[in-house]
Amino acid sequence: MKCRICQEEFTPSKYRPCQTVCSKENCQYLRQCDNMKAWRIKNPNYFKSDTPHDKQESKAWRINNAEYIKKYRAAHRKEHREYMRKYMTERRSRLSIKKVLTLSPQVM
Ligand SMILES: [Zn+2]
Repeated sequence: MKCRICQEEFTPSKYRPCQTVCSKENCQYLRQCDNMKAWRIKNPNYFKSDTPHDKQESKAWRINNAEYIKKYRAAHRKEHREYMRKYMTERRSRLSIKKVLTLSPQVM
């Protein structure tokens, strides 16, 4: 059997007799890239929200509805502040745990 990528002779695994790529790390890596490319061609809309067109559209929406956003923010200011306070406390405690772990490896 000839590897589809490096063209070298290899013996397919007995568990995967239709294997077309040898087990070299580089060949396996390229095979995965190929698979991903094929997958993206098969699923063209999966990352659709990343497209600039979509971003432009939501930007246009925000501009057209600026008043609505302003009102929404004003109405939810208290909730947002509380949410941010909670988020920051959690974040800080997570960071301080990390600091303890990195500053004193002898504790581990
Ligand atoms: Zn190969």
